[in-house]
Amino acid sequence: MKKLITALLLTSSLTANASNTEFTQKQLQQIDEVRTSALNSDLSYKLLESLTTEVGPRLPGTENDKKAVAWAQEKFNELGFDKVWLEEATFPEWRRFSESGKILTPSEQTLHLTALGHSVSTPKDGITAEVILFETLDELIAAPANSLKGKIAYINYRMNRDIDGNGYGPAVRARSTGSVEAAKKGAIGYMMRSVSTAHHRFAHTGGSHYKDGVTKIPNVTIANPDADQVARLIALGKSVTVNINVQNEDRGQGTGYNVIGQFNGTENPEQYVLIGGHLDSWDLGTGALDDGAGVALTMAAAKHISDVKRTKRSIRVVLFAAEELGLWGAKAYFAQHNNELNNIVAAAESDFGADVVYAFESNVSAESLPVVRAIAKELAPLNIEYIGRNQANGGPDLIPLKAATSAPIFELAQDGTDYFDYHHTADDTLDKVTPAKLRQNTAAYAVFALMAADAKTTIKPKAQNK
Ligand SMILES: [Zn+2]
Repeated sequence: MKKLITALLLTSSLTANASNTEFTQKQLQQIDEVRTSALNSDLSYKLLESLTTEVGPRLPGTENDKKAVAWAQEKFNELGFDKVWLEEATFPEWRRFSESGKILTPSEQTLHLTALGHSVSTPKDGITAEVILFETLDELIAAPANSLKGKIAYINYRMNRDIDGNGYGPAVRARSTGSVEAAKKGAIGYMMRSVSTAHHRFAHTGGSHYKDGVTKIPNVTIANPDADQVARLIALGKSVTVNINVQNEDRGQGTGYNVIGQFNGTENPEQYVLIGGHLDSWDLGTGALDDGAGVALTMAAAKHISDVKRTKRSIRVVLFAAEELGLWGAKAYFAQHNNELNNIVAAAESDFGADVVYAFESNVSAESLPVVRAIAKELAPLNIEYIGRNQANGGPDLIPLKAATSAPIFELAQDGTDYFDYHHTADDTLDKVTPAKLRQNTAAYAVFALMAADAKTTIKPKAQNK
């Protein structure tokens, strides 16, 4: 017992030392002040309410997308950011007009479906064909050539529910390229179980790709209970015929904007902490969880910091454009800033809903770990656990940054247990966000951004290996 107590004392004095060398007593008080004010403020919720109510869904290229850009510019200015600006991003524009589905045989009933992004339209009265079931994408890939001629290929794969959303990656493979594999075998349509953990009858949309030289076939997902129904009917040994009717439009190249707000640093303003989310959303819901929450909480976090002090390095909030159609805003941002990426001293994107942040992880050089541990210590009062692996992945809009360079990436991991119940559905609306949880998220981002921007030592990425 004595040994344990000694060990505990030793650990706490070591961490205390790390904080003391990186941050003065005055800075630690400011951190406490920022954390407390964020925990007691409804600013992030008010921003989220405004975005999801006054703008609503924000499919890239739509009028609402433009309204969202104007909304973000206006809010950044109202919140007193030192610098607010737009950077252009282009993307392939796509619209959804109408969609419906029916099981025709063996017994007629409604099929709740939605088109995947970039899906082509069916003829006006839809396509009608027999459904051929595969449990996985690999099973479909292994099907003999021409075996799906005139059929609708259906993948029944069910994603698993987990706190860190690890079921998403394996499930999303079928969404990205399933229709290409189906068309290669002669199918006239592609249908899949939604990438979803939900029990409700909303289908989940999402990004998908065609491939040059392979016929583009209509590409839809069905709600989980409908997927169960189709699978049960097929298991009865009946021929299951469905009608799928989706009307969409590819509109060529569209233009949107990353909206950026910055509080300038006092000592090294060119260096900055990058936090943010993506401003666009799918069209079915109002994009409250994906990713209005990330937008609102990072804007609010920066504002809470500025209310207490200006940091040594700048704090930049980047609201990326057209993430849902393929990370187009992020690609444009990191290409445009390609020769100054080493000015980013820390980067974290919030794009995983608004449930509590339960873990904190870095991906930085070994010399930067004392700063990371000092930040972790100030996140602990928010019930955030420090993950010491130092292999954080970061949000999707940081993928182009990671591809370009070794970058100091951070993750404030939100509890994603329920995230895929709502993700990319009509059910992604404001009522799914709990104000107290959003406040905790905001406080976590505020503490993180303040400390990364104000530490004595500049955080550095792992050594460049490219
Ligand atoms: Zn998102």
